[in-house]
Amino acid sequence: MSKDTVQDGLVVSIEYTLTVDGEVLDSSEGAGPLLFLAGYDNIVPGLEQEMIGMKIGESKDVVVSPEDGYGEFDDEAFMEVPRSEFPADMELEEGLELHVSDEDGQEQMAFVESFTDDSVRLDFNHPLAGAELHFNVKVLALRDPTAEELDHGHVHEEGHNH
Ligand code: ZN
Repeated sequence: MSKDTVQDGLVVSIEYTLTVDGEVLDSSEGAGPLLFLAGYDNIVPGLEQEMIGMKIGESKDVVVSPEDGYGEFDDEAFMEVPRSEFPADMELEEGLELHVSDEDGQEQMAFVESFTDDSVRLDFNHPLAGAELHFNVKVLALRDPTAEELDHGHVHEEGHNH
């Protein structure tokens, strides 16, 4: 099996730019290349699928639908929580990002949509839910993962890890 194209089980180093509605939201420029382990849900599925088979040095424009990106916007993904469940000295503001544990102890990301003295309304949608993602990607390098990286399912190398 050749190791000179992007495939599951390899560590892929890429340069990328993410544009949504004509606005650049994220880029490896300045931050350094993004490293991810292909086949382990490290990046949005729609982007990974389109990168399989790309060679080192190759670049590509990839359009990812919400479905294959950060999901459709879900009107139901809101929850009303009593203000008393938050630390009294916690400064709340709209858009504040929180990590909340559900009953199973799973960490979930949520955003404060609005709040009153008595309750806080949380939004569990990803900020890019419903967005069509436009990526420009370039494959810089490929390598085998270490045994530990394979075991953990993500890259350990210093870099721009998401
Ligand atoms: Zn790890």
